[in-house]
Amino acid sequence: MLNLLHNNHKLNFENQARQVGFQQFIQTLFRTLLITPLGWVLIFTLSYGFAPLDKLIYWTFLFFISLIAILFCLNRLIKKTPNVIKDQKLILLIVTCYGFLWGLMAYGAMGYDTVLDSWVLTMLVGIVSVNLLSFITFPKAFYFLVFGMWLSTTLSVLMILDRYELGWKALFGILIYVISLLYVVKPISNRVLEGIRMQLLNQSMAEELTKSLKAVSHQANTDALTGLLNRHALNKALDDFIVKGERRNTIFTLLMIDIDYFKQINDTYGHDIGDRALQHVAQCIDRQLREEDVCARFGGEEFVALLPNTNTTEAVFVAERIRQSVESTPLTNPNEIITISIGVATHQVGMSAEALLKAADDEVYLAKQQGRNQISISNTDTFNTLPTHS
Ligand code: GH3
Ligand code: MG
Ligand code: MG
Repeated sequence: MLNLLHNNHKLNFENQARQVGFQQFIQTLFRTLLITPLGWVLIFTLSYGFAPLDKLIYWTFLFFISLIAILFCLNRLIKKTPNVIKDQKLILLIVTCYGFLWGLMAYGAMGYDTVLDSWVLTMLVGIVSVNLLSFITFPKAFYFLVFGMWLSTTLSVLMILDRYELGWKALFGILIYVISLLYVVKPISNRVLEGIRMQLLNQSMAEELTKSLKAVSHQANTDALTGLLNRHALNKALDDFIVKGERRNTIFTLLMIDIDYFKQINDTYGHDIGDRALQHVAQCIDRQLREEDVCARFGGEEFVALLPNTNTTEAVFVAERIRQSVESTPLTNPNEIITISIGVATHQVGMSAEALLKAADDEVYLAKQQGRNQISISNTDTFNTLPTHS
């Protein structure tokens, strides 16, 4: 089963690599086609004064018209993203025609001058070699190109055999050359495709790894019941707030929120309803906060909110909104309202995370003593007078 999965995975990347290879090939083919006119210039220059000009002009004209049509087709294909399964036939037809048109050059320019004959043969061999490189990510097309070129070269040589004594030898030479190329092209192309496959595999593994890391890090920092940050993440955020606040000389305020008589809720309605109450209070708190505020489940039925750039007066407004929101939304029975007590403490320069938490916790204790369902505010200004480390 595992082996099957592994093979499926491998096959998947093989198909993807074929697709990527095909797309890369089409891009390169387009560029190769664009430099075709250089070949025409070369053949005109070489054969000037030897081969009849009109034959060469007919050949170039036929090639020109076909090239425009081919470029038009390719351009449309590139725009819609070519697909190796659907567009393969069209591409193979195109490259066969392209090879055929190059081979026809033999009919136009050969059989007039021995030196020119050698040049034309050299050019044909050169064109095959250049295309071998361009077609390396999709070797099938190379075979079709070579076939098209070989066919038209053979036909051309057969037609001019009466005035071309080296005809058979030339055909035989080209055939040997092409067969040797076909022999070497497959392993090179396999290695290139293997490279693409490895690249795709690495990319996908890196993506999977990043995803799992994100999930693990999210899990490590989140409280499973409420979806808020957990205590570990809160401690990190608090340290961060203190460092940033002191560097930028800004303040922030901490709210410690504790559900009143939560044990009774559990005892009366059961743990499940208790859990729902925790989720509900978490939502009430979260809804009253801004994007930049931090909200965490500190312990069993205690929550902490950090409000950056917020002084005590502003924080008390937020705390009051949270208190009212919890009080006004009973969970089960409309007569059984949930209430919370909130301790407010603003961070002062030099105050540690523990001191700030303790200041807020002391206020929660006071609020409880004074009857619960209320807010108690710490006068943390006194911390300014605490001795600092030298
Ligand atoms: P006070 O008004 O003084 O805060 O009273 P309290 O009952 O809210 O406080 P106490 O600390 O006595 O009880 C807290 C309860 O919260 C005890 C514990 O069973 C319950 N608790 C802690 N974590 C969870 C939890 O994850 N789910 C549920 N359902 N209950 C929890
Ligand atoms: Mg408590
Ligand atoms: Mg409580």
